[in-house]
Amino acid sequence: MHVLTAKTKNGAKVCLADGYSRQTLQTWRSSEEFFCPVCGGKMMLKLGERKIFHFAHLKDACEESSFERESESHLSGKLALFDWLKTQGIQPAMEYYDPVIRQRPDIAFHFNGFRYAIEFQCSAIPEDLFMKRTNTYLSAGYIPLWIPEGSHLSRKQENTVALSGFEYLFLRTSPGNPGYIPYFCSSQGLFHIVQSIFPYSPSKAFARIETKKLNGLTIDRLIDPGPPALAVLPFWHDKLARSKLSIGANPKTPYMRFLKELYRAGMNIFLLPPEIGLPGTKAAAISTYPVIWQSYVVLDVLLGKGEGSVVTESEAAACLSLRAGKGDIRTRPVPLAAGFSLQEAAAEYLSLLSLAGVLVQKGDGVYEIRRKLDFPKTASEQIENESAFRKAFPASR
Ligand SMILES: [Zn+2]
Repeated sequence: MHVLTAKTKNGAKVCLADGYSRQTLQTWRSSEEFFCPVCGGKMMLKLGERKIFHFAHLKDACEESSFERESESHLSGKLALFDWLKTQGIQPAMEYYDPVIRQRPDIAFHFNGFRYAIEFQCSAIPEDLFMKRTNTYLSAGYIPLWIPEGSHLSRKQENTVALSGFEYLFLRTSPGNPGYIPYFCSSQGLFHIVQSIFPYSPSKAFARIETKKLNGLTIDRLIDPGPPALAVLPFWHDKLARSKLSIGANPKTPYMRFLKELYRAGMNIFLLPPEIGLPGTKAAAISTYPVIWQSYVVLDVLLGKGEGSVVTESEAAACLSLRAGKGDIRTRPVPLAAGFSLQEAAAEYLSLLSLAGVLVQKGDGVYEIRRKLDFPKTASEQIENESAFRKAFPASR
């Protein structure tokens, strides 16, 4: 664990982000001892030629320090973010150790009456540790600002990204933005704001990536990037078709239970109506394929009802909770994203079905069935239905 702050014998704090010269530090090193502000362990001041000046524990790093291992990009990213905040008139505290919660965010600062804790994450940490730190910050009145290092960002084709469960932990919402992940690439000094995230498989999603230089983005835009750019999902139907293949045409499919259940209901994954598998952002709360959990909503809630019947968000949500309880679908933790839940995913799906003309909204969370879903009987019928649907319901908003 390499850090930028230490304490001297008399308790004075030394922060290497304050920009001391090598000479000053060398003089200091010969006359002073340095200690870890967290565990009190002895630290060495390292003044290498090729690395950023830093302190390192003489013996094993303390527990609080042990997860973010030594990494040059972590140190340089912290320094860049620290300087970036300072140029905006903010007084950030580097590696501020809060003895009350016994946590040390990379950078703590006050802004517009709120207290923020930046966690710039280069290495993957266990999900439970992420949750624990997040909850501790929240309960102590900090707004946690988790920022993944840019190298985690895996761009696929145009407008698609691969997102791991670890990266979804960083998904956050703001008053003006329904969901984004703020990556920071320390080697290039670039922010990559990934937004308009529409998951189409357990690990891939459509998304818009907005790249900004450090001096091209202010802290208020990092905290709230504003409304996302219009999402255009030109390949949604293609991705949906591929999803169905990997679920239904894969001999080692882990979705046998789902396929059997469809079969028992007289359905087939390759002969589903185009309204099953619609793109929504709240799908981030579920790591199962959208086409699977939406099939369950249709099976459990819609199929038994005729035109004119009432369908509610709460029954759709109850269906998903039940399915999650049975292990048919899996939820995904998104602790920083307000309003991402099974309930919200269910609500969004019903509103998409009303856009598609299947339901009509009658009240808050209450819909009526306007037309029954049309299950194609042959592959060619399926293709016809789908292309007709595509014209009426372009996957963009
Ligand atoms: Zn320590």
